[in-house]
Amino acid sequence: MDNSTKLQHLLPNIDSHLPQWVDDSKQLCQYGKVASYIPELAKGNIDALGIHMLDAHGNEASVGDVNTVFTMQSISKVFTLLLALMDNGEEIVFHKVGMEPTGDSFNSMLKLELVQPGIPFNPLINAGAIAISSLIQGDSQQHKLERVLQFFRKSTQNESLQYNEQVYQSELQSADLNRSMAYFLKDNGVLEHNVDDVLDIYFHHCSIDVTCKDLSRMALILAYNGMNPITGEAIVPKRYVQIAKSFMVTCGMYNASGQFAIQVGLPAKSGVAGGILTLVQGSIGIGIIGPALNSKGNSIAGVALLEKLSAHYDLSMF
Ligand code: GLN
Repeated sequence: MDNSTKLQHLLPNIDSHLPQWVDDSKQLCQYGKVASYIPELAKGNIDALGIHMLDAHGNEASVGDVNTVFTMQSISKVFTLLLALMDNGEEIVFHKVGMEPTGDSFNSMLKLELVQPGIPFNPLINAGAIAISSLIQGDSQQHKLERVLQFFRKSTQNESLQYNEQVYQSELQSADLNRSMAYFLKDNGVLEHNVDDVLDIYFHHCSIDVTCKDLSRMALILAYNGMNPITGEAIVPKRYVQIAKSFMVTCGMYNASGQFAIQVGLPAKSGVAGGILTLVQGSIGIGIIGPALNSKGNSIAGVALLEKLSAHYDLSMF
């Protein structure tokens, strides 16, 4: 069976292997740590691991702790980038952020001062995502927050999606590093608006509550170049999705993106609450939750599970 035929049959048949792979990957949770620099995230269940997969025919595979609700954190950066691109176009966006991986951790501000012109290297590190938050259009702060939430609701097909107020407050109170980055960006002329307002948008989109199923729906749209293949609705122009997926490959798993490209070979984005959004182009959207993180801030069991899946089904895009 060639690869494309194999993929067509993937979801209806995958259930037989999946529980075993989830169980095996779960063993790694003990070697990870739940993020605690945002105190509210420390409440995450260190032993949890869940995966939800969805294809264009609506076939689903769902194994493990899939009912866990968690905040999107950095995964949201992919979709705020898309919204900013739709609001402003490529030229304005790439005036504020670059296109290169940093090789540094997601919250580093090292290169901001080191490399001129002092714009964040890419939109998936914290500094870059903060710059992107300043590009979200709206008549007022409230309007911008509503537009962001609406866009995530549309992308997940989940009208009940909400900002998690506790996590938002927790981020707000533990954000000295992000705050210093934002002031630095303001001084460099990257941020044009009030720093607190920009950070307010950034913390809000990081603290949207989702499940693996929501992530798989968002991922499926990326897998189909901006269209929801189940409803036929066009959500994002193909060019912008292409940009977002390129960033996911080069920077989506922080400074472990190169290793992930070699071991798994799929565009992906992780968040510090333990989520991973990934996709098989033209085929499947995947959402994972596993709050135990490795030293780079990626779900330790989630990455292991994706390695097994990718190896078994030869899913690497390379
Ligand atoms: N809200 C988090 C922060 O600003 C997002 C980081 C992440 O998921 N890597 O630090």
